[in-house]
Amino acid sequence: MTAPTVEDAAHLADEVARRRTFAIISHPDAGKTTLTEKLLLYGGAVREAGAVRAQKAARHATSDWLELEKQRGISVSSSALHFEFAGHRVNILDTPGHRDFSEDTYRTLMAADSAVMLIDAARGVEAQTRKLAEVCRLRRIPIFTFVNKMDRHGRDPFEIMAEIEEVLGMDSIPMNWPVGAGSDFRGIYDRLGRKLILFSGGKHGTHRVDEETIEGEVGDPALVEAMGTFARDVKDGLELLEGAGADLDRERVARGDQTPMFFGSALTNFGVRPFLDAYLARAPSPTPRQSAGVPIDPVKHPFSGFVFKIQANMDPDHRDRVAFLRICSGQFVRGRNTIHLRSGKTIRLANSTLLMGKDRAEVEEAFAGDVVGLFDPGIYRIGDTLSDEPGIVYAGIPIFAPEAFMRVEVAGVEKRKALEKGIEQLVQEGVVQLFREPTGGSASWILGAMGPLQFDVMQHRLKSEYGVDLKLGKLPYTIARWPLAGFDPEDFRYSERIKVVRDRDDRWALLGHTSWDFDRLRDRNDTLVLSETPDPTLFERSL
Ligand code: GDP
Repeated sequence: MTAPTVEDAAHLADEVARRRTFAIISHPDAGKTTLTEKLLLYGGAVREAGAVRAQKAARHATSDWLELEKQRGISVSSSALHFEFAGHRVNILDTPGHRDFSEDTYRTLMAADSAVMLIDAARGVEAQTRKLAEVCRLRRIPIFTFVNKMDRHGRDPFEIMAEIEEVLGMDSIPMNWPVGAGSDFRGIYDRLGRKLILFSGGKHGTHRVDEETIEGEVGDPALVEAMGTFARDVKDGLELLEGAGADLDRERVARGDQTPMFFGSALTNFGVRPFLDAYLARAPSPTPRQSAGVPIDPVKHPFSGFVFKIQANMDPDHRDRVAFLRICSGQFVRGRNTIHLRSGKTIRLANSTLLMGKDRAEVEEAFAGDVVGLFDPGIYRIGDTLSDEPGIVYAGIPIFAPEAFMRVEVAGVEKRKALEKGIEQLVQEGVVQLFREPTGGSASWILGAMGPLQFDVMQHRLKSEYGVDLKLGKLPYTIARWPLAGFDPEDFRYSERIKVVRDRDDRWALLGHTSWDFDRLRDRNDTLVLSETPDPTLFERSL
């Protein structure tokens, strides 16, 4: 390989600096699909109304295990969407909405540089949002908050701020303040830009919305007049905010202690563009990631990245598997060789696709911050590093505690090989987690997932790809914990409420009926340290 020229290096630095890679975290129905669609409209990535939904529908129509999605009206798969806006390259890591697939979302967050937390103004911080925000905070991913559905009667903005503080332990710093609410939601006052933006004419399905901007302080006669009956409320609200003295602090945002907050309505498109502008200006471009304690600079190091997701059979015309790679440093060039660190093999980046909904386009080049889909002949595992430099190894992707468990019931011997192979493969893809009882072969396998739909996908895929019927027996456990200290398997020999198992990497794990079982355990043995993830240092090591 020839050494990069000065122009190449400058080009790479520019490309990296203009990238923004994020995931939207929200509870189902908060409006993620609607907001994503509006953002794509701004980027010109989709031209017509309903294109994201239409693509979802097209995927449903052509895909086979995704038939399941259609039957259940849910979205299982996720991919990366991208568009250009105002000189930025925006990568949205799409995540499945259903809670049963939240493990997939957790993994996707490992590939993001920031997150947009979407909150329904009437519902506030909901359960799934809370969990996802916790993962962001562990990974120290800055969170930007968009309070959606302001066109409906919702909660008072101060109430939402208080809830974010109480539930998530973050200070929210409103970047703008709503003028009116519900059917009277008229606009926003931009606190930093010192201007009033009034919206009109927004309609679902277009990104056209009329904006009238009036610069000045809230007390200025022109603004007071334009805000009409809302002028008093807005002034009072802003004065309260000023009084609270919470200013935006980049460092605190980066640490996840503060979240810049925006108000709007994805449906009517009020406030989406001001949000996008402010977000792009403040969100981080790809930052260094750690490899064994060494920060890998996205610009100075050669090509490297890690696999955060593996997805099979997205399209029955291409019965294949795609490994999604988050590029962490350097430039990806199709056809070049690189090293697959776990196996030590040199591989050619020949079949790479950039995914935009269901359309596949070959990528010729991509830069740190981007996500590329690589054709996977079965060599990749979630967390694998690819790198031109042999010394780079990313920490991997944490495993999260499953909440539903099933026993694998092996019927006959004739299909056992296929069954074992299928399960191994699908576990490798992260479809479900595998545990084993300390003694015994596949007859002692236990599958763990976030919810029943993951098992359905598992059964569906084993049938269609491996021709085996997977029989599962329900187990009463709802919680898994990994002992980090003070653990002796002998103590559990006669335990009826807690099952001792080995995880896929042969570490001890405990399955309990409820969290109460673990609370009681800790009361009895105060040296016992239990963790929700087998390797909590992974978060620190990846920072
Ligand atoms: P997702 O489950 O988070 O992807 O949510 P969707 O984008 O599918 O939205 C859920 C429902 O909320 C749909 O009926 C949307 O039309 C509606 N919705 C989304 N954004 C808004 C909004 O800003 N205002 C109102 N009134 N409804 C919205």
